[in-house]
Amino acid sequence: MTQPRQRPGTACVHAGEARARAHDAVTVPIVQTATYAFRDTAELVECQAGRLERDEYGRYGNPTVRALEDKVAALEQAEAALAFASGMAAVTTAILALVGSGSHVVLFSDCYRQTRQFVTNTLSRFGVAHTLVPGGDLEALSRALRPETRLVVSEAPTNPYQTVLDLDRLTELTRPRRVRTLVDTTFATPVNLRACALGVDLVVHSATKYLAGHNDVLCGVVAGKMSLVSLVKDLRNVLGGVCDPHAAYLVLRGIKTLGLRVARQNATAMALARRLEGDPRVRQVWYPGLASHPSHAVASRLMKGFGGVVTFELATDLEGAGRFVDALRLPRIAPSLGGVESLVEMPALMSYFELTPEARGALGIREALVRYSVGVEDPEDLLEDVDQALGTVGA
Ligand code: PLP
Repeated sequence: MTQPRQRPGTACVHAGEARARAHDAVTVPIVQTATYAFRDTAELVECQAGRLERDEYGRYGNPTVRALEDKVAALEQAEAALAFASGMAAVTTAILALVGSGSHVVLFSDCYRQTRQFVTNTLSRFGVAHTLVPGGDLEALSRALRPETRLVVSEAPTNPYQTVLDLDRLTELTRPRRVRTLVDTTFATPVNLRACALGVDLVVHSATKYLAGHNDVLCGVVAGKMSLVSLVKDLRNVLGGVCDPHAAYLVLRGIKTLGLRVARQNATAMALARRLEGDPRVRQVWYPGLASHPSHAVASRLMKGFGGVVTFELATDLEGAGRFVDALRLPRIAPSLGGVESLVEMPALMSYFELTPEARGALGIREALVRYSVGVEDPEDLLEDVDQALGTVGA
């Protein structure tokens, strides 16, 4: 759907939504149907012959899901977008659509663990080779590219250290070689970073996080050029990881306030990062908005805000960090991020629990590392809460 270009906050509310609605509803109706009836066989024939565009079966399309897809495409300034049952359904379907047996994928080693697992453990069983390069290292990427390289997979910012890859440089390296780029910008949201506009071929999001924003639904999206999105759509229609209309409605409703939420979360996370940096009970803080972060210059150039996640290492051990987390009164201990409720987790106890401290160390996961995803609570309350919990960490 082509609509006049809107600023992000306006696009969050209006983009992708038709003004004329069933029953004059102001909100997008939930079209809860698995299939669509044809008036008569003549209409069916028109549809089969491609002369009539209409919905036919739920796995191939749904009006509520399409409203979400059109809104995300507008927000990303992309030609098209697709919604999926989860972020991982989006990531895996998009990658599978772009590679084949005999091809090669380059992956940054700090990307989401299940994405890495899919490329290294699953794709390798189907004759797709891969090279892992250190997070943010474009020289290593350049060296890893081969004639058969089809795809580079990255995230911006990454989890948990929030490296922001120089996407301009990335596309300079990949474009002349006809290598596609897929970047997961879940942590950034399209409010803070529009990777398609920077020349990235496909952007993916775990919409479970900021886009939906309320910790109540799983969803994923892919956005990019129509030609590539069509490929992904063909495969989605076969693999079947489609977004349910109810889930699409919840994400659509969540996106209405995305601009407001992200503005608040950017500001709160910046305040938290500043508060933590320099405190003797904190060994290091990783937030791209801080001048001390290795990606600060790139992030300042590419991003409109630095996001709502602050990662920090406490000046203590695993147990000490656990005491800090347990002393926090506002954030809940849970995986995920980007919702209205602040969440906190220790990567050593969550995503990397089954590894030994040495194996975690080899992956760069420190024992007293804490990842704090700020919600939309009053920032003063969150900061006061962190201050009192820091009291449990000896200086
Ligand atoms: N990408 C990133 C950066 C994530 O953090 C996550 C989930 O934590 C995913 C993808 C997967 O998304 P989902 O949990 O919606 O499948």
